[in-house]
Amino acid sequence: MLEHERVAIAVGQRSALPVIVAVHSTALGQAVGGCRLWRYQDWREALEDALRLSESMTLKCALAGLPLGGGKSVIALAPDYELTAERRRAAMLDLGDAVDAFGGSYGVGEDVGTTAEDMLIARERTRYAYCLPESQGGAGEPSEPTAVGVRAAIGVTLEQAFGTADVAGRRIGIIGLGQVGSRVARRLTADGAELLVTDIDPSKRRLADELGATWTDPGSALRADVDLLVPAALGGILNPDSVPTLRCAAIAGPANNQLSDDSVADVLYQRGVVWAPDFVVNAGGVIYGSAMEFEGCSREEAMARVGAITGSLDAVFSAARQHAITPLAAARRVAGERLRAAGRDRADGA
Ligand code: NAD
Repeated sequence: MLEHERVAIAVGQRSALPVIVAVHSTALGQAVGGCRLWRYQDWREALEDALRLSESMTLKCALAGLPLGGGKSVIALAPDYELTAERRRAAMLDLGDAVDAFGGSYGVGEDVGTTAEDMLIARERTRYAYCLPESQGGAGEPSEPTAVGVRAAIGVTLEQAFGTADVAGRRIGIIGLGQVGSRVARRLTADGAELLVTDIDPSKRRLADELGATWTDPGSALRADVDLLVPAALGGILNPDSVPTLRCAAIAGPANNQLSDDSVADVLYQRGVVWAPDFVVNAGGVIYGSAMEFEGCSREEAMARVGAITGSLDAVFSAARQHAITPLAAARRVAGERLRAAGRDRADGA
């Protein structure tokens, strides 16, 4: 059964590329979610991505306590498609038209493959394009608030696993030293953690040396005997093959879609590994961006709001304890309660 409120697939007039917009829920407010510009074998695969990612955005916004719903858009490129600057511009104008056809029930931002500059082009066709460059009054690069949120979530996760949020002396493994992972690494080092880090890009070793962190290869990092792992690269890292080999006590990181499928949450739970749901941990960017662009908050006010992740993750872990369920099931439960309450308010005309 399709759980989404509205899904549109069109061939872009200018780009001739499949442009997909999926709105999962507007129960809490305008659906938001970035546009993914990515290569797919087939547009059906891109549609799958849009459906799954828009549902995640509903959960992310509901758990972050935002008055926003979940949506996502995807522009599907064929594996061998050559994306010139001209074609990219055409695709962004088509995206703007597709978003505008939703009349404001969906607002688009940047995501994997798109940038704040792309959103500026989409803006030529719709007022519902956000995450604009800082020079245009937008929130700009989301990695800093995302990293602040991840750092807060690591404290809550350690508390759940060990009874204390203190990172001093804890052994923490970070997989992926990109925009978010590198920032988290700097913060954890400053707070006294002992880091084991990895990246497929060997140039990231310089940061490891600078921070006095131990460098290892990605496979070993995943299986390392650490207190907590921070997945900060790609999704699907926790799967039926990798989970039995884990030796960490807890996991909290920004990578989207860490679980290859929902059943992996059960295996983690049975193994006693505390997993903080990625869509709670990585909400810093959307909390910050919406505070700045929708509510006109200053940078400082917007950054302070990211601290709400502590309360959201606490609520998830306490529901998990209370009902003896996985953090994933608890997160869905807490989000479901918020969505149902919003539905009741609407029905009551509140
Ligand atoms: P990034 O591209 O800057 O960094 C990813 C890093 O992971 C790169 O250095 C890359 O070389 C490395 N990497 C890729 N595959 C790897 C592997 N198999 N093993 C080890 N390292 C590998 O991305 P980012 O912006 O730092 O985001 C990291 C993750 O967090 C992504 O999954 C992203 O979707 C998610 N996320 C990011 C934000 C944000 O604000 N940037 C917000 C929400 C979620």
